[in-house]
Amino acid sequence: MYVVTVDQEKCDGKGECVDSCPVNVFEIKDGKSEVVNMDECLGCESCVEVCPTGAITVKEM
Ligand code: SF4
Repeated sequence: MYVVTVDQEKCDGKGECVDSCPVNVFEIKDGKSEVVNMDECLGCESCVEVCPTGAITVKEM
């Protein structure tokens, strides 16, 4: 299982992570990305690669 976090201070809310995640872990809420479906995370790190502000971390538990 993976722990996904979005640094709300860094997030620009443009949703690159939403578009890149194959299992819909993220949703944009109030202009920021939120982790809404962490249990589905595959650990692929696509979201980490596309995030322009380095707001996302993915750690294996
Ligand atoms: S690591 Fe992959 S599966 Fe997990 S949240 Fe990021 S894009 Fe989605």
